[in-house]
Amino acid sequence: MSGRVIVLGAGMGGLAAALRLARAGRAVTVLEAADGPGGLARAEAIGGFRFDAGPYILLDRPGLEWAFERLGVDADARLHIRRVPEVYEVAAPGASPVRIQDSLDATADDIGTRWPGADDRYRRFVRAMAAAYARMQPLQRISRPGLRDVLGSGAWRDIPFLLKPLSAVLRSTGLPDDVVRALAVWTHVAGQTLEAAPSPLALVPSLIHSAGAYVPEAGIGSIPRTLADEATAEGVAFRWGARVRRILTAAGRVRGVECETGEVLETDRVISNLGLATYLHVLDPEGARRVPARRRAWLENLPLQSPGVCAYLAVRGAPPSSYLRFHLRDEPDGCRLLVSTPAVLPETVQEGWWPARLIAPMNHTRAVREGESGQRGFLEQVLTESWWREGLDEVRILATRTPGDWARDAHLFRQSMNPVMTAAFMRAGRLAHRSPWIGGLYLAGSATHPGQWVSFCAISGVLAAELLLGDSGDRVP
Ligand SMILES: Cc1cc2nc3c(=O)[nH]c(=O)nc-3n(C[C@H](O)[C@H](O)[C@H](O)COP(=O)(O)OP(=O)(O)OC[C@H]3O[C@@H](n4cnc5c(N)ncnc54)[C@H](O)[C@@H]3O)c2cc1C
Repeated sequence: MSGRVIVLGAGMGGLAAALRLARAGRAVTVLEAADGPGGLARAEAIGGFRFDAGPYILLDRPGLEWAFERLGVDADARLHIRRVPEVYEVAAPGASPVRIQDSLDATADDIGTRWPGADDRYRRFVRAMAAAYARMQPLQRISRPGLRDVLGSGAWRDIPFLLKPLSAVLRSTGLPDDVVRALAVWTHVAGQTLEAAPSPLALVPSLIHSAGAYVPEAGIGSIPRTLADEATAEGVAFRWGARVRRILTAAGRVRGVECETGEVLETDRVISNLGLATYLHVLDPEGARRVPARRRAWLENLPLQSPGVCAYLAVRGAPPSSYLRFHLRDEPDGCRLLVSTPAVLPETVQEGWWPARLIAPMNHTRAVREGESGQRGFLEQVLTESWWREGLDEVRILATRTPGDWARDAHLFRQSMNPVMTAAFMRAGRLAHRSPWIGGLYLAGSATHPGQWVSFCAISGVLAAELLLGDSGDRVP
């Protein structure tokens, strides 16, 4: 058994990796720049309410449960996850609103009432996507699926589907434009076009109607919190407020980590939860020279995803029945989202007031070009729009975040949460869990998995840790 592993960052990927290693008997130290765990997925107390900083919904409960099982944590018992009945509605000026509910029949019937015949097309589409999801699901839990994995799972049948952009998949359904727009909403909220988006986003409706969409009773932030608590109990040493400056290397292998304070911790194994910054910012010059120039240029030029703007609200009035209300405008950065917590967690209402969030994606290039004043201007424009105030009696804005605020609070590299998961990035391959260039360096987190949800980040941490254990000669059960 070798020495202490250092994990950089206590986001979902870093926490899952640290816990997996500790369960296997390894000594682990986590260095985290913030003063607590969770990164983008952490919980915050604002104005007497509990808010999730970023995420609002769990769309891949089976993936999260798989990761929790590998981590020896009972997800049901610890998280008390609640199924969302009326998941979302999408409205657009001049278009008929579309409601997607937990129940396939209720959703299809509602669509069929307004577009006769479209209900059957919707059912066929959901069934086809459910079959594709079942074939592809095992591949999400393998670090680098090879030909044998693809053949064994039957996912070879989905290769033509995977090569298509989301726009082609959705248009081939023959569903009305308003419905297609509603099904593609996960693309809009990620600030992508349908043409650039990867086809697996078409699997989401089948996930909602089968596995379900969920929110834990204590919010999404309870997921990283649970992992951090379990890791602490298992002996992982957390150092909060410990910002890493450099991964130190010698002869192409990790030899230590240097903190912003100048302190050096020696180790021959690092798992980084810092995404692109691992290669473009924190690797020492000697290590960085090992990254082939073409790959470095590719990394430098990946389109980045901004966390967008966000307002944390206290609201009075009857909560909408849909947990998520999307509003789409036909303009750049035209997607908006109101998250109404009591639609799933009625106990969050306090003396008539309840917590809500208003979210709008902002194109990363634009956010960087316009800087703090442009970002704040965009946020103010979103706040002055009338659609989200409909049906609400009173609104208090408790806090706001621009991409610049996110960068400071969540220690984001280049004000970005990760590379945009475009169809091209998915095909070219995300960042590998085991660095191909630096011995002893492993990566976990949203840049290392074709999906960028909380569940996928947890899976990525498990996969990175298990590769490290296998490489160190530990038996991986
Ligand atoms: C507005 C918004 C909405 C979202 N909605 C959803 C949703 O509904 N459902 C869903 O599943 N996902 C959602 N996501 C995505 C999800 O939250 C993220 O993909 C996920 O939390 C990222 O986890 P990660 O492991 O990549 O690490 P991160 O959360 O990025 O954590 C990295 C950690 O590293 C630390 N760090 C950075 N630099 C250093 C350094 N130099 N030294 C030490 N520590 C450092 C950071 O402080 C941070 O704690 C959303 C994200 C946002 C922003």
